[in-house]
Amino acid sequence: MKYIILLGDGMADYPLGELGGRTPLEAAKKPNIDSLARNGVGGFLQTIPSGMGAGSDVANLSILGYDPKSYYTGRGPLEAASMGVKLEKDEMAFRCNFITEKDGRIEDYSAGHITSEETKGLIDALNENFDLGRFYRGVRYRNLFVIKSLQEVETTPPHDVLGGRISEHLVKPSKSKDVTRLNEMILGSKSVLENHPINRKRVKEGRNPANMIWLWGQGVAPSIEPFSKSHGLKGAVISAVDLIKGIGIYAGLDLIEVPNATGLIDTNWEGKADSAIEALERVDMVYLHVEAIDEASHAGDAELKIRAIEEFDKRLVGRLLKNIDFNCRIAVLPDHYTPISLKTHSSDPVPYIISTLDGEGDGLRSYSEKEVQERGSLGIREGHKFMEYFLTDSVG
Ligand SMILES: [Zn+2]
Repeated sequence: MKYIILLGDGMADYPLGELGGRTPLEAAKKPNIDSLARNGVGGFLQTIPSGMGAGSDVANLSILGYDPKSYYTGRGPLEAASMGVKLEKDEMAFRCNFITEKDGRIEDYSAGHITSEETKGLIDALNENFDLGRFYRGVRYRNLFVIKSLQEVETTPPHDVLGGRISEHLVKPSKSKDVTRLNEMILGSKSVLENHPINRKRVKEGRNPANMIWLWGQGVAPSIEPFSKSHGLKGAVISAVDLIKGIGIYAGLDLIEVPNATGLIDTNWEGKADSAIEALERVDMVYLHVEAIDEASHAGDAELKIRAIEEFDKRLVGRLLKNIDFNCRIAVLPDHYTPISLKTHSSDPVPYIISTLDGEGDGLRSYSEKEVQERGSLGIREGHKFMEYFLTDSVG
């Protein structure tokens, strides 16, 4: 038996007035996913444990079978893994954003979505001027800072306090000596960065400069038991997103790079389907993550979200189903809700279906929040218990 998990990031939603009271999943034409539902069973997963943030990192960790309460240490170490930066036992990694500071406030959490080409010189300048730790270049404004582990540090994501005063949202507790040095570096980054030729050029062109760094999402390397050891099966992950790749690396999954996988609606849908089929010749389980649906949700664009679900269905799921010629169990689910009305994630339990291509099911007519609620037989379970259940032969 082979196993495929089709993960539509942020796919679940609330009923929308503009869709006549339907959710995007209900409004989208998705014959392939619906055919899986008709042969499937359904239920709900609490992928975000109570008290934890509704992040994709926490949710995907859950679905891959790891209880985030025990295994989640922060976003930084997951991104470090996807960048090929290995953390020593006594080190921690922070996400290091380039931001735009203006009049003592956080003007832009992404420094005008500065390019990776431009950040090269800026990262070099930071490493030349500060020796508290080491800066690593990531993708665009999303970089990394690694330092000897500190105790009890509290940080704030810059996109959560946009327009907020820098002085109020620096690293805490401010009384700690280590934290003071960290905050001195953050504030000191301004004088290193603002007169850098790259920033002078950006300002001249009317673009936001990367004139300060912002550290958050810190953590030590998680110790995660490899998927192969927990389940006795080989797995692979396909995703355009660093965090998901990072989780895959820690879980010992094969990382499959698909050319032109962008994380947006212009992604290489067919390439992702073909890579999954190819991978399943070597591995038992493929975790196929699609980001575009979440991006549309954050933009609050219901029409784009529906279109992303339809592309997912037609170009990825449809192509996959057409080319599967082996015994296979397939799950379809989101990691978390990203309701259009909220433009951000929520912690509601997510609807999932599990199908075998010729299985007897719950009598689901389609895949949607309401249909799984009304006809699914599996009830609600904790997110991290999903994988074991999915891989058990009794389903379907
Ligand atoms: Zn997500």
